[in-house]
Amino acid sequence: MAARPQPYLEGLNPAQRAAVETLDGPVLMLAGAGTGKTRALTARIVHLLNTGRARPHEVLAVTFTNKAAREMKTRVGQMLGQQVEGMPWLGTFHAICVKLLRRHAELVGLKSNFTILDTDDQLRLLKQLVAAEGIDDKRWPARMLAGIIDGWKNRALTPDKIPSADAGAYNHRGPEIYAQYQRRLIELNATDFGDLLLHMVTIFQAHPDVLAQYQRWFKYILVDEYQDTNVAQYLWLRLLAQGHKNICCVGDDDQSIYGWRGAEVGNILRFETDFLGAHVVKLEQNYRSTPHILAAASGVIAGNEGRLGKTLWTEETEGEKVRLIGHWDGEEEARWIGDEIESAQRGTRGLDPFSLDDMAILVRASHQMRAFEDRFLTIGLPYKVIGGPRFYERLEIRDAMAYFRVVTSPDDDLAFERIVNTPKRGLGEKAQQKIQRTARDHGVNLVEGARILLAHGGISGKGAAQLRLLIDGIDRWSSMLQGPRIEISEDDSVLDDGVAPLRMDYGPPDVSHVELAEMILDESGYTGMWQNDKTPEAPGRLENLKELVKALEGFENLQGFLEHVSLIMDNEQEGDGEKVSIMTLHAAKGLEFPMVFLPGWEDGLFPSQRSMDESGMKGLEEERRLAYVGITRAERICTISFAANRRVFGQWQNAMPSRFIDELPEEHVDVLTPPGLYGGGFGAAMPQSDLHDRAASANVYNSPGWKRLQSRSGARGTSQPRESRNVTIDMQAVAAFEMGERVFHDKFGYGEVIGIEGDKMEVAFEKAGTKKVVSRFLTGGKD
Ligand code: ATP
Ligand code: MG
Repeated sequence: MAARPQPYLEGLNPAQRAAVETLDGPVLMLAGAGTGKTRALTARIVHLLNTGRARPHEVLAVTFTNKAAREMKTRVGQMLGQQVEGMPWLGTFHAICVKLLRRHAELVGLKSNFTILDTDDQLRLLKQLVAAEGIDDKRWPARMLAGIIDGWKNRALTPDKIPSADAGAYNHRGPEIYAQYQRRLIELNATDFGDLLLHMVTIFQAHPDVLAQYQRWFKYILVDEYQDTNVAQYLWLRLLAQGHKNICCVGDDDQSIYGWRGAEVGNILRFETDFLGAHVVKLEQNYRSTPHILAAASGVIAGNEGRLGKTLWTEETEGEKVRLIGHWDGEEEARWIGDEIESAQRGTRGLDPFSLDDMAILVRASHQMRAFEDRFLTIGLPYKVIGGPRFYERLEIRDAMAYFRVVTSPDDDLAFERIVNTPKRGLGEKAQQKIQRTARDHGVNLVEGARILLAHGGISGKGAAQLRLLIDGIDRWSSMLQGPRIEISEDDSVLDDGVAPLRMDYGPPDVSHVELAEMILDESGYTGMWQNDKTPEAPGRLENLKELVKALEGFENLQGFLEHVSLIMDNEQEGDGEKVSIMTLHAAKGLEFPMVFLPGWEDGLFPSQRSMDESGMKGLEEERRLAYVGITRAERICTISFAANRRVFGQWQNAMPSRFIDELPEEHVDVLTPPGLYGGGFGAAMPQSDLHDRAASANVYNSPGWKRLQSRSGARGTSQPRESRNVTIDMQAVAAFEMGERVFHDKFGYGEVIGIEGDKMEVAFEKAGTKKVVSRFLTGGKD
């Protein structure tokens, strides 16, 4: 074959080129943020296709989010300079496993049209099981068990493999209820999220023939963000890679941020022993960020121990320092950021105008988003929230989806339970129990149970007539679904390695699924229910239902849509026009934006309270990696902020600037003056007479973090605010405490002072353990 042009190789540096061109055998690309790992991985796919080493369906490429998968697909097409004829196996672990599991569902007792439960349904199911066991949900919350089971699934542990060390989980009942839960899921023809991988690992381990087929099939395996794979994902990859051994993983140990979800950074560190003879590529040149941003990120991450330690450099010499600013509260912070965004859009401060698409706000906790959403709605600033399935979490959307689920998968009892009396059909608790009992007695699903109950006259009156209407409706709607919706067939052409390609065909629809969806919502009375509803929310809910039907248009069929929704990790609000992105730091992994805002850098929020309370440094180190991920998302402008007051779950709390702020290297930071407090610009000036205000401003300026920042003055905008001196003096009048004194803290309760360092007291709290707190948060501890 004549060599095809390879423009995609141009512009890569030698190390990247090596990673792209070393096609045989295992390759590990281990490198810091913004060094072009993902870009090299993408070029590698293009190279595989371009050189004819593999056809699109022979490449298994795993990304961390659906958004990343879409972007990679687009980029492959662009680099290749032609339309790729689909890359069916480019996606997230979950998306790929759903496809595989549909093909082999029967090997674990499922049917190929199984439904994927979301966390809400999962919890409901667990609650039922827990209640049936007579366990007090208050003492032993089902939610806790859900977490334990997820943990087991992340470690690829089926109920028969729970280690004895875990036998005591959930008051010694965990393993047994886990087994029940798994059986119940199979009865419901359903899986939860963790099952997708767990079942595939089980299938691969128990059926060597199936595994062998895919080992041959996937000639090349590529994995982005390898540092965040959990044990189940790791096992799954290792099994598949044993065939051709052409596996290329890229990652960064400093960006491992999913330890809390079972990810094991050890996977990346073990790569060379797992895959002998692995070619290890190190990339050191950063192409994303300015030197100041890079230095700030490096400064923070240096606080972690046990790092592989990587060098990062950039050819860039220009750029602004990382900007740091303290605010009165979260609302003020949102207001300021809103104003900054608008002025960046206009192109102030000698900078070219930024597009809204170029700006992102990355928060530690999703509850931080509300302040921004509210503010942006008020000032009419277009934004999108990435990473939270917010739309699909709404009540009316979940109801509507339950209807779709019953129609596509009649075994989905949870969905049936949700809709059987919504809208009200006179089918109360009692009637529902009858249906449940009939179904159980006959060993059938609830739809069948209801049918039998009706046939035997086991239910009467208005309820009976309504139930019949519903069941008839379900029958009718189901019959309008196009045949088996996904047909997976072996192509008849046989390839050189003797394996038939896999092909997925979609049958032609009778009624379009969009029309069908509308029909279901109308005929079931669900839309009518909201039309007759006089509450203020009703019109919005009807809008949302319309929006849902609109969303369906982008899919081939109902099932594909349901699958999409259950897999969705990023629901970008589609639509024209530029938008600022708001997302969590976790969701921002792998992304980049010219201008990034990192709000809420306060102890207890970031790093999270939980990580601070934990003994040992593990949690805190993961938070620090998150800080590193956050800063390294920024290309040109990075602004970190904190508030002196934060309302958390409806309660006002004083906040201390994050300890990570102290870790920012001074020479790379510009400290800005908060406008709200000192009339330095926009934002309402605070009434200085108000004690609460003064306490809060003092909090900002008295904190060790801020004091250190003050000593760095000199840079633009760092002048000491006019009135803060008074405030500081006021607050210094706060009583200090002596060693051994009994004290009280609002959050931590009573304790005894065991150490004093300036205005910081080390206190042994009776309940909360030993903590360092600032003295003004303490009062004399008389009971
Ligand atoms: P992260 O660790 O954050 O996922 P990464 O290592 O995957 O980062 P990429 O996203 O691939 O980095 O690349 C960062 C930026 O640098 C992108 O805008 C990319 O296009 C650019 N880039 C990568 N390699 C080169 C190169 N050789 N020349 C010019 N630009 C490059
Ligand atoms: Mg990347």
